Amino acid sequence: MPFALDPSYRALQDEARQLAATVEPMAVEADAMSTLHGGVRDALAASGLWSLMVPAAYGGRSETLDPVAITVTREVLMGTSSHLDSLFALQGVGSYAITAGGSEAQRAQWLPDVATGARLAALGLTEPVAGSDLKSIVTTLTQDGDELVLDGEKAFISNAGVADFYTVFARDGDGYSMVIVPAAADGLSIAPSPEVIAPHILGDLTFEGVRLDPEAAVLGERGRGLDLVLATLAVFRVSVAGASLGVAQAALEEAARHAGTRQQFGRPMARLGAIAEMLADSWAEVEAARLLTYRAAELAREDPRAALEHCSMAKLMASETAGRVTDRAVQIMGRWGLIRDSKIERLYRQARPMRIYEGGSQVLRLGIARELVKEVLA
Ligand SMILES: Cc1cc2nc3c(=O)[nH]c(=O)nc-3n(C[C@H](O)[C@H](O)[C@H](O)COP(=O)(O)OP(=O)(O)OC[C@H]3O[C@@H](n4cnc5c(N)ncnc54)[C@H](O)[C@@H]3O)c2cc1C
Repeated sequence: MPFALDPSYRALQDEARQLAATVEPMAVEADAMSTLHGGVRDALAASGLWSLMVPAAYGGRSETLDPVAITVTREVLMGTSSHLDSLFALQGVGSYAITAGGSEAQRAQWLPDVATGARLAALGLTEPVAGSDLKSIVTTLTQDGDELVLDGEKAFISNAGVADFYTVFARDGDGYSMVIVPAAADGLSIAPSPEVIAPHILGDLTFEGVRLDPEAAVLGERGRGLDLVLATLAVFRVSVAGASLGVAQAALEEAARHAGTRQQFGRPMARLGAIAEMLADSWAEVEAARLLTYRAAELAREDPRAALEHCSMAKLMASETAGRVTDRAVQIMGRWGLIRDSKIERLYRQARPMRIYEGGSQVLRLGIARELVKEVLA
């Protein structure tokens, strides 16, 4: 396992840095928005980085999606703007069920536009009641003649209201299916979700008798939709670790810049024992989380499903690290850490949801512990 990133990934990070530099002047405005920021969308489309989200046959850069490439890109983008990172990531999260389970016709219809950003994607799993316990969803897909009918509600869906299509997880008889629902479908209505502490494009979807053509809508085998959810997590969970690292690294740099220049008690604050300790612990924890994240991403590139527990460990470590590091950074920066919409205040708020979505820390620990015991007892 290499300890340094391959030069091709470092070149990709340079590309991402260029995009981040373009977005930087818009970041405060975009990160305060829960609707689409046109300037950020245009900059992302112009960068060509959305092409990382589909296979080469549909306009992508590699034969299959590369979790390392997506992870290191998110690390850079999230350090500048959560709106930018989210728009980048959701294009893959929302469309991966099509890549993994779609027919040739479905892929050809949707994926080239995902790669360019001509159409935006979203993934609908969570419901008003069902969160971590995904199998408790109550949205249903039922057969009516030659058609399928979708009824139910989805809540807290990223990109809802701006997406052109939704991949939706629904109960289908004794199993679950994933279906594509175009945003313009009759019977689909969308309302904003409650505002969250780190603004995010979020909406609630209601499906009232949405009629779907099975050939166009159903992804993969009917009743096997859970496999497509797991496949999506297997590729994208580690990328949340990448985004968390972006937050943690940016916070660390803010704190070090401040503590290295502000004098108190006759010396730079970085040389006051307790402050030095917080800086040193934070740096060491970010480096440790980064090594685990890159290793998990490499494993996921080889075999996404086999790497899921390592990706869960990386997501757990990196998101919890981001929480600790942003908190310490605010402490180190004193009153300057509290100024609304300053870089550090945004990072502090943005770190918080990362321990909840795409696998809450407690839920991840359950899976990791189960896998550990299984391996040891095998
Ligand atoms: C910014 C944001 C964007 C989102 N985007 C999307 C999206 O695009 N698509 C989508 O489908 N959903 C999305 N969600 C929803 C997200 O997936 C859920 O919030 C997440 O699955 C957790 O579900 P919950 O909020 O209902 O919490 P709950 O499931 O109620 O969990 C609450 C707490 O209990 C813990 N917990 C849960 N189960 C256990 C257990 N068995 N043992 C111990 N502890 C447990 C959890 O870790 C968590 O800390 C988004 C959420 C946010 C905040």
